[in-house]
Amino acid sequence: YYTNMEGAREGHRSLEPAPIMASELGANWKNMTWTHFMMRMFNRIHFTQVEAHLLMVQLPGWKKLLARLMWDYIRDIPWRLKTPISRRLACGSAGVARLYLSVLKREIPLEFNTQMVELIADGDTVLGAVIECNGQRQRVRAAKGVILASGGFEKNQALREQYLPAPTNTTWSAGNPGNEGDALLAGLELGAKTRLMNDAWWTTTLCVPDEPAPRLAIMEKSFPGSCVVNRDGKRFANESQNYMAFQKDLFKTHTEEHPNAPAWHVFDATFRENFMVGPLMTKAMKPDSQIPKKWFDEGFVAKADTIRELADMLGIDADGLEETIGKMNHYAETGKDEDFGRGDSAYDRYYADPAIKPNPCLAPIVKAPFYAMRIEAGDFGTLGGLDTDTSARVKKADGGVFGGLFAVGNCSAAILPTYPGPGATLGPAMTMAYQAACHMNA
Ligand SMILES: Cc1cc2nc3c(=O)[nH]c(=O)nc-3n(C[C@H](O)[C@H](O)[C@H](O)COP(=O)(O)OP(=O)(O)OC[C@H]3O[C@@H](n4cnc5c(N)ncnc54)[C@H](O)[C@@H]3O)c2cc1C
Repeated sequence: YYTNMEGAREGHRSLEPAPIMASELGANWKNMTWTHFMMRMFNRIHFTQVEAHLLMVQLPGWKKLLARLMWDYIRDIPWRLKTPISRRLACGSAGVARLYLSVLKREIPLEFNTQMVELIADGDTVLGAVIECNGQRQRVRAAKGVILASGGFEKNQALREQYLPAPTNTTWSAGNPGNEGDALLAGLELGAKTRLMNDAWWTTTLCVPDEPAPRLAIMEKSFPGSCVVNRDGKRFANESQNYMAFQKDLFKTHTEEHPNAPAWHVFDATFRENFMVGPLMTKAMKPDSQIPKKWFDEGFVAKADTIRELADMLGIDADGLEETIGKMNHYAETGKDEDFGRGDSAYDRYYADPAIKPNPCLAPIVKAPFYAMRIEAGDFGTLGGLDTDTSARVKKADGGVFGGLFAVGNCSAAILPTYPGPGATLGPAMTMAYQAACHMNA
């Protein structure tokens, strides 16, 4: 994600779960919670991250891939009779299905719809937990220890306001709806040490009217022929850099008088013809007449014949926006973004259009009508939490570690000092869970 840093090398070794057929789980597939709907075409057909890149940027072969995914889906009539979700799982669904399969093979019992409400401790040693299922509470004694893995506190507004930078709102977070910081609070109750509490896995999100959760806005900001502006009509960051760095820049200059959130992704008719933006397919696939009226009424999308009219519709400073678009058009010509260096790094160019010259991240924003889509200062989870050692044992605020208490994933403080690349959350979570299990069995 930081290919512009000294010593950085281009390319990547990102891993993603190999797709798997849901039918491999037998009747247990019904217990699955599917991956975020934005990772499913038409809310139904799973695709991998590699396939998502091909489809979104419309790289060579995207039409063939689209046809294959759709054909495989349509002809799978036996599975269609069970569920509208594709049999072939990818991304998070595939990762969880594979873990679930391992659990089933080892005949490890699982409890569903069960909440950990309290830890049971004797001094500095955790003995078990109080759990609640269907309103019934139960005390469970742990044979070897308790591993907390209940995610961050992104869906707890009070904790967000206590720890995270403003503005902050649970509704902008794409994290799991059940992540209210229960493990963190249970740990704090015992006197646990915390770290990195004022940080999150930041990304701008799109809160589309009537959709059940926000979408991550990762690739589209990078496409040429668009820019992201604040209420003053000014850009505040390089739109093509990685999503975490973009949002850190958003917070850096955000003030109540000059807010950067919400921000608006502004693009023109040419961009609309060539690229998908969040839920908005290209113009050929979703003409303007098919854009839901609610999107306009609720200020999620705006469309106007001039930049000035667009600004007025959104309550953005019109002079500021005109000046910004003028600058972007000049940079598209020279190939040099003099304000934020957009397109200078290899990462910037990853989601760009190689056909655009001289800078694949910059194209003029000149063809009416002009559009804007509202984006929020979101996240896909918090990254601060219970401080742990290399065996994932939870540290005490007054020194040492608790006996029998481990924390992994987003309820623990992130072990990486920054966000070097994709997998920076799931990789460490799985590694530390393995460490915890090894320690328990040592
Ligand atoms: C659309 C999207 C794409 C992503 N892509 C990537 C990616 O490519 N690579 C990557 O590394 N990360 C990615 N992430 C982030 C990654 O999914 C999360 O960081 C990761 O899932 C966090 O794992 P976790 O186990 O800590 O928590 P979660 O996966 O959030 O799971 C926590 C679970 O605990 C449950 N829970 C909460 N409280 C309790 C309680 N008291 N008792 C019992 N259960 C409880 C919750 O309901 C939830 O099911 C993505 C996230 C999103 C939303």
